[in-house]
Amino acid sequence: MSFVSPGTAAEYDVRARQGLEATFDTPATGVGRAPGRVNLIGEHTDYNRGLVLPVALPHATYAAAARREGTRFRIASAQQSEVWTGALGDAAPGRVTGWAAYAAGVVWALSEAGFQTPPMDVYIDTSVPLGAGLSSSAAIECAVAMAVLGVTDVDLDDDVRRLVVEATIRAETEVAGAPTGGMDQTVSVFAAEGQAVLIDFDDDSHTAIPLPADDHVLLVTDSRVTHTLVDGGYAARRADCEEAAAALGLPSLRAATVADVEQLPDARIRARARHIVTELDRVTATVAALEHQDWARLGELFAASHASMRDDFEISTPELDLSVATAVEAGAVGARMTGGGFGGSSVAIVPTDRVDGVARAIDVAYAAAGHPSPAHLLATPSGGANYLG
Ligand code: ADP
Ligand code: MG
Repeated sequence: MSFVSPGTAAEYDVRARQGLEATFDTPATGVGRAPGRVNLIGEHTDYNRGLVLPVALPHATYAAAARREGTRFRIASAQQSEVWTGALGDAAPGRVTGWAAYAAGVVWALSEAGFQTPPMDVYIDTSVPLGAGLSSSAAIECAVAMAVLGVTDVDLDDDVRRLVVEATIRAETEVAGAPTGGMDQTVSVFAAEGQAVLIDFDDDSHTAIPLPADDHVLLVTDSRVTHTLVDGGYAARRADCEEAAAALGLPSLRAATVADVEQLPDARIRARARHIVTELDRVTATVAALEHQDWARLGELFAASHASMRDDFEISTPELDLSVATAVEAGAVGARMTGGGFGGSSVAIVPTDRVDGVARAIDVAYAAAGHPSPAHLLATPSGGANYLG
């Protein structure tokens, strides 16, 4: 059994700076940092104008940057062998493919939002596992944004942070082509230590929700089944939700009731809509249960959420079903798959003294089922994106 280390900001600051020097032979002016996230509850609700409750991970992406002469950017990553080189226009939608879209797309979107984006060298490193449903994509986007704004001396106040969320969403949806809903960027930018972030996509507000500390921890298990959000399954679910809302004559499923969705004639569309409408109630109920530290209720809500994603939304996998069931059997208060689905991770709320036992039980269950070993992370709720100078 092993836990993926988040490293420290000081360690990654050095690593990112050294990477920039070694790759581009230039000293860093500064380093942007942005965390990955785990969503506690509220899955696929963001693009339905709904509620989500993510937590920022201690695992984060770091981007070292320095201005350079000429017109071109150069962007490299410790996680990728290809270096991207191009001018601002080369980072526009449709012009950049692969991983670099997530980084270069941010420079393009910041420029579109009116920020200064002089040519820079950028070097990225991360402790967030890629493609594990823990939002390495928002982490790289927001880290690059922090670096570009930091190097150009922009004050990272709340107004700027809101623009960063918008720009990084544009990079992900328009440049990288992943039709995600904005939860990941919002929590990566606005998270606060020790808190979850309740985001309401009806009015784009976000509220800090204190998490009980000490006696319980959040155990994230990466199933090592890599999901790809640009692959079609995610977009298909989003289209189903839009079809359901249109059939009900509503602007979004946020406005629908359980009674409404049960009238939908198409069985698949009805099941998709049922997940969204019931999940929205579960987010509100989870906030209340956290406030009262009602662990039994949290367990029920997580179980119902997982079943809804497995049966109605059909985004779980056998590996995720196994880590969720095993976590609960081994003493977790509650567990569910988290993130967009089709692979990725599960999250469990576990009494602190049981976390090693729960992680070990999941390892044993995976081995017995013939699945590759999973990776575990402790999701100590961390602070939002910043510029390390
Ligand atoms: P998730 O956000 O759950 O990790 P996504 O599919 O949304 O999964 O995003 C993962 C993709 O983001 C990677 O395949 C890669 O293209 C890009 N990416 C994320 N982090 C990095 C990084 N540190 N370096 C290079 N590319 C990255
Ligand atoms: Mg992502």
